[in-house]
Amino acid sequence: MFGAIEAGGTKMVVAIGDEKGNILEQKEIPTTTPQETMSHVVEFFKRDNVEAIGIGAFGPVCVDITSPDYGRIGKTPKLPWVNFSWKEAFEEIGIPVAVDTDVNVAALGEVVYGSAKGLSDMIYITVGTGIGVGVYLGGKLLHGMMHPEAGHVIIGKRADDHFEGACPYHKDCFEGLASGPALEARYGKPAALLTENEDVWELEADYIAKAIMMYICCYSPRKVILGGGVMHVEKLFPMIREKTLKYMNGYITAKELDDIENYIVPAGLKGEQGIKGALYLAAELKR
Ligand code: ADP
Ligand code: ZN
Repeated sequence: MFGAIEAGGTKMVVAIGDEKGNILEQKEIPTTTPQETMSHVVEFFKRDNVEAIGIGAFGPVCVDITSPDYGRIGKTPKLPWVNFSWKEAFEEIGIPVAVDTDVNVAALGEVVYGSAKGLSDMIYITVGTGIGVGVYLGGKLLHGMMHPEAGHVIIGKRADDHFEGACPYHKDCFEGLASGPALEARYGKPAALLTENEDVWELEADYIAKAIMMYICCYSPRKVILGGGVMHVEKLFPMIREKTLKYMNGYITAKELDDIENYIVPAGLKGEQGIKGALYLAAELKR
């Protein structure tokens, strides 16, 4: 049996399952302070014979397995969690952990079980409270110096957009212009209540397409998967596909881009990509 945690800013999804990605039990625990939240999380895993736990965590988080800080959270805006260590939290009950970013773990779930099954190179983009990109290249999750933070790239604000941007670090980076909270701050209403307004989604699709064009040029993925709350707006998909090709302007020729409907796609696991990816990460630790 393996454990999985999808650690988000508002809630933690905890689950127990097997190495095939079957979820046997699942629970949600609110994210408050590490002390309070982790007492419930640890309690959940204590009851079962859990061999290892895979964690998809909000970042920044140390994912370098050779570092003494492996599994430690860095300078997150969720202040009580700064310096919290996933590894140390489970040491007291003797369960080893495998930690990666929430988006990398979602990418892994999609590669093993979902829309990118069997591919060696893909990216998973979440457009939700924040924007994050999980990168799977050459059959491995990309880490590097830390881990990609590709939601914070500067994509250039469109001339007719007068919103200053919502990112506390960069104002009008991709996340600052196109996340759920950015939409709410620009238009004064939650994103889900803006669905009738065509201009909103035309601009949103434009920013997402620009970012995807950049990611295609930089990462060369064989598939681009889009998830997160904002991507519930299904009409974004055809607009994003069309605009991505427009921005690419024929520069990169690949059979994948000729089949754009199957190149830029929604997440295939209906919200379970993170938890299934985390289960797989845990199982990998024991392989
Ligand atoms: P998180 O990023 O915190 O894990 P989500 O991926 O669900 O959570 O993203 C939450 C964001 O998505 C919020 O900003 C919300 O406004 C937006 N959102 C959620 N549902 C919808 C929807 N149906 N249409 C548009 N935006 C939505
Ligand atoms: Zn930013």
